[in-house]
Amino acid sequence: MTDSATPAAAADNCLFCRIARGQIPSRRVHEDEDLIVFHDIHPAAPVHLLVVPKRHIESLITAGPEDQALMGKMLLLAPRLAREQGAADGFRVVINNGPGGGQEVFHLHCHVLGGPRPWRQMSTGR
Ligand code: AMP
Ligand code: ZN
Repeated sequence: MTDSATPAAAADNCLFCRIARGQIPSRRVHEDEDLIVFHDIHPAAPVHLLVVPKRHIESLITAGPEDQALMGKMLLLAPRLAREQGAADGFRVVINNGPGGGQEVFHLHCHVLGGPRPWRQMSTGR
């Protein structure tokens, strides 16, 4: 295993780990011991939040049984935050996984999109 392939090195260089550590600014709407939630810097909808685990997990492809409760917590947080941020009548959840799934930031995150149309087409990563 090369140095850059270790979990610690991955977290050092990871954009969302750095946001979680407060080293890069973000517009946070929620933080607890496991998760941070902030506004997407390039929103595709009037409400576009990113729900991000503090622990570095690359994607659902590398998540394991030990992450089951965390995955549930991410999804169960979405309705309240979507409503609080102005998505009154529903929201969409998107998780891109791997290059083929259009993932661009390789730290697991859940997009929460809502608000009045029109919405912008989300990047497909291709
Ligand atoms: P994905 O394609 O699923 O990996 O999505 C990555 C998302 O992160 C994109 O919607 C970007 O607009 C968003 N993003 C990239 N850099 C930042 C940042 N510094 N703060 C907030 N959102 C970001
Ligand atoms: Zn990370």
